[in-house]
Amino acid sequence: MANPPARIVDPANLQALFYKIMERYQVKANEIKNLKVALVDVHGHGLFDCFKCYHSWYSHYSWVQLDLKEMKVNYRWKMKCQKCYRGHPAAAVGIKPTFGVEEMEKMIENAVCRYKGVEFPKKNPGNRRRHEFVPPHFSELCEKCGWGQVQCWTLPPYSSFKA
Ligand SMILES: [Zn+2]
Ligand SMILES: [Zn+2]
Repeated sequence: MANPPARIVDPANLQALFYKIMERYQVKANEIKNLKVALVDVHGHGLFDCFKCYHSWYSHYSWVQLDLKEMKVNYRWKMKCQKCYRGHPAAAVGIKPTFGVEEMEKMIENAVCRYKGVEFPKKNPGNRRRHEFVPPHFSELCEKCGWGQVQCWTLPPYSSFKA
């Protein structure tokens, strides 16, 4: 397997990324009055590392809630490790996703576009086609799916489903 892309670990770097993209779209954090519209749920290609069995996996539908006012990741929806779950469902713990810099940049831009009500310019047709008819993950392992209650990849863009 190829080396995974660089990950953002430093909140200061993440804030710089928010700043860069928001500036491009002329969105100023201190001018956002409505806190509700500042919170945007977006999904991207996230990596999960199980700290119990060291199994790692990707999901194209890995969800975070971004806070455009505070310029931070407000929430990361977890996923349970399939290997641990298969061995002993009750023992599987939820793992938070991490994202590469480029992927996080895309997600922030997506959130900013949604905040401004403009169309997100960067579609990813390759990924989209591949995942069109195949569920991206097992719904019962995903917190955003409500641990099996819904399918997060069919949720309307603005819904903020939390189990
Ligand atoms: Zn595991
Ligand atoms: Zn899901």
